[in-house]
Amino acid sequence: MRILYVEDEQFLAEAVKHNLEKSGFKVDLASDGEDGLEKALKDIYDCVVLDIMLPKFSGTDILIRMREKKIPTPVIMLSALSEVETKIQNLDKGADDYLAKPFKTAELAARIKALTRRPKSVNLNQISYGDLSLDKSNACLNGEQLTATEAEIVAALIESPEKLVSKDYLLAKIWGEDNLAEGNYVESYMSRIRKLLKKLNCKTQITTVRSLGYKLTEK
Ligand code: CA
Repeated sequence: MRILYVEDEQFLAEAVKHNLEKSGFKVDLASDGEDGLEKALKDIYDCVVLDIMLPKFSGTDILIRMREKKIPTPVIMLSALSEVETKIQNLDKGADDYLAKPFKTAELAARIKALTRRPKSVNLNQISYGDLSLDKSNACLNGEQLTATEAEIVAALIESPEKLVSKDYLLAKIWGEDNLAEGNYVESYMSRIRKLLKKLNCKTQITTVRSLGYKLTEK
């Protein structure tokens, strides 16, 4: 699960990142509103945590732009302003939860888990397209065991079938915005996944969109 945390107090940001990572989250940081907005609009996060008072754009500005762009990702707002009015204003603008500063990271982690919890009645771990069926809970594709990274790539393709999935999107979603992973990482994973699809005699194929990315299509 990848979290974006937009926070201008660097010491706090690093401490919360460290603690959330110990709880198993992947965390990208942004230290001002401009960087935060750019990252949030990439729509690669499972949850976005926004401080309200930030340089350049406020957390509320980021929230408004995300909702304008129809990005449904759960948003938790953080602020030292604990007044009821600020809280109501942000919930009105589409925030999902609100946490007053100072807070304990365990409390933030619990709120993130609550917001990203899927309804138990629907098995959203099982996703499919064409003759491909991936179980995200155990990284099995048509019964074949994948590595965690392979499964994340296949999931990204199945979740946007017949659409361009760019190399940059995959790099940011899987390796993280600040990671030094390069395009050839994606290429080598893609070639392994293609070999597997061939071995499994799948009619579904991954086509390359030259210099841009990949598309999942049926033959
Ligand atoms: Ca601040």
